[in-house]
Amino acid sequence: ECPVPEDIQIAKSHLPKDISIISDEIRLLESEYELYGKKKAKISLSVLDRIKDRQNGNYVVVTGINPTPLGEGKSTTTVGLCQALGAHLKKNTIGCLRQPSQGPTFGIKGGAAGGGYSQVIPMEEFNLHLTGDIHAITAANNLLAAQIEARMFHEKTQTDKALYNRLVPAINGKRHFCPIQLRRLNKLNIEKTNPDDLTDEEIRKFSRLNINPDSITWNRVMDTNDRFLRKITVGQASTEKNMTRQTQFDIAVASEIMAILALTDSMQDFLTRLGKIVVADSFEGEPVTADDLGITGALGVLLKDTIKPTLMQTLEGTPILVHAGPFANIAHGNSSIMADKIGLKLVGKNGFVVTEAGFGADIGMEKFFNIKCRYSNLVPNCVVLVASIRALKLHGGGPKVEPGTPLPAEYCTENLDLVRNGCSNLIRHIENSNKFGIPVVVALNKFSKDSHKEIDLVLEISKENGAFDAVLCENWEKGGEGGIALAQAVLRASNQQSNFKFLYDLNLSIEDKIRKIAQDIYHAKDIQISESAQKKIDSLRKQGFNDLPICMSKTQYSFSDNPDLKGAPEGFILPIRDVRASIGAGFIYPLVGAISTMPGLPTRPCFYDIDIDPITEEIF
Ligand code: ADP
Repeated sequence: ECPVPEDIQIAKSHLPKDISIISDEIRLLESEYELYGKKKAKISLSVLDRIKDRQNGNYVVVTGINPTPLGEGKSTTTVGLCQALGAHLKKNTIGCLRQPSQGPTFGIKGGAAGGGYSQVIPMEEFNLHLTGDIHAITAANNLLAAQIEARMFHEKTQTDKALYNRLVPAINGKRHFCPIQLRRLNKLNIEKTNPDDLTDEEIRKFSRLNINPDSITWNRVMDTNDRFLRKITVGQASTEKNMTRQTQFDIAVASEIMAILALTDSMQDFLTRLGKIVVADSFEGEPVTADDLGITGALGVLLKDTIKPTLMQTLEGTPILVHAGPFANIAHGNSSIMADKIGLKLVGKNGFVVTEAGFGADIGMEKFFNIKCRYSNLVPNCVVLVASIRALKLHGGGPKVEPGTPLPAEYCTENLDLVRNGCSNLIRHIENSNKFGIPVVVALNKFSKDSHKEIDLVLEISKENGAFDAVLCENWEKGGEGGIALAQAVLRASNQQSNFKFLYDLNLSIEDKIRKIAQDIYHAKDIQISESAQKKIDSLRKQGFNDLPICMSKTQYSFSDNPDLKGAPEGFILPIRDVRASIGAGFIYPLVGAISTMPGLPTRPCFYDIDIDPITEEIF
């Protein structure tokens, strides 16, 4: 019988420290944080100015084998490693985690605060609302969506002159351009600053964005798994004069704004990226941006507090920064550059920042290196690759696991053959990590049914196949103490000389960059680009967007495009069905398969088990 209580019981039985104590422990000045109650605080970016000359700490990224329904435990290991480094080895350590989306929390997945004795607390605040960043992103995203629709409506129903007069109204008898309009003039190469001097042709160019409704890529978002919003029709009221349009809602964390938040490194950069968001093409084939729609400043105001990471704590009272939570398929699925940068300065030269990359290492780690590190200029010291025996058995040919049914016997009794076969998946991730020149430590997350022989086998195979080290992690059961071996291995690995390199140069063609990832990371034989995808690539190239990094949108369950191909498949042809771009965030995302950007609720959502006591307001 497992002696470890349920996650929520453990989380509830620990009294969090006042967050001002943690702020003090990481040497923040009082002016550098804002309290959100007693257990959360937002950190002001001004701290970076004060400690900019301090040397960065060691930078550790936690990733995993291809996920399975059996769970590998990346978040649990991330939090456990922070507890081990911080509370047991007494190293300055800050963990950087993504903020979970409310949709999956209430849907299938449950929370993402780690598990067992390695968790972030208070878990309900971590999982829901936090400090409102997702709500702010939702508001900003939908304001932009509303403006696209409204602008098309106004352009359709007004003459050039009438449009212009409303866009540049006379105030006290005098017209003038506001700063965002001056930027638009600049973009159009109209070198005039007096609104009365524009020719009719210039007035037309300035006032009409000429948005092609069929090219709009900007969707509305909300943070609820509401499958019936996957396709909607807007504009059905008679006031909209039959300008109906089919569109859709995405889950809020799929918004490009979330990806921008995760990749930005200053308020100035944040505003620049927001302004560059491309929402559609004009009928002339030109990209239409948020800046063209006059909305950049307003987005910045709505989002101004989101850029500050939120400070929380682990069960053992060590600091955690929670910030951003972009999708890992149509976006890069990593925690924020901002939090990592602040963390690395705060922990200082001998300290550690442990940050988490979503999905398996073929996606999360590859994007961490090729997208996130490229934009941050930060060089990681060590990769921690999480695996579990039961997940490896599934990769090795073990039977499928059906949700809600008991685990097949293979996962509860010793089976060395399945484990050995499944290690093919682990080995490929180790090799991939080594391609980037960073030492990799395998963290084998121990589950109660794992046998000694199975454990020894995985550790041995890992070390024989290029892992810097491989250790057993018991931090789910024992908290930080169970992660000491991992922490020590990470210390040793971080002392190694790293020879970090990107997988591809940005100036390669879009096709070659995709091929490089497919062949070198996934072991595909080649890629097959559909006709429509090729058209998009050509159009992106024409618009001047060739030199962006690639953000593959592929299933997380396999190296290939087929989620059922476990282990380490070879020789498959990777289909590229469509290609899209998040210009503000700064990447191109090829779609390998159909990706749902709006999850649905299952028959029995997690919320059946969530309740609140009406008297004490205790959540259970
Ligand atoms: P991931 O980050 O890979 O999705 P998590 O760390 O969030 O995985 O863990 C998923 C679930 O599995 C959590 O509920 C956690 O409590 C549970 N879990 C993790 N490690 C173990 C373990 N060693 N034994 C039992 N349950 C575990």
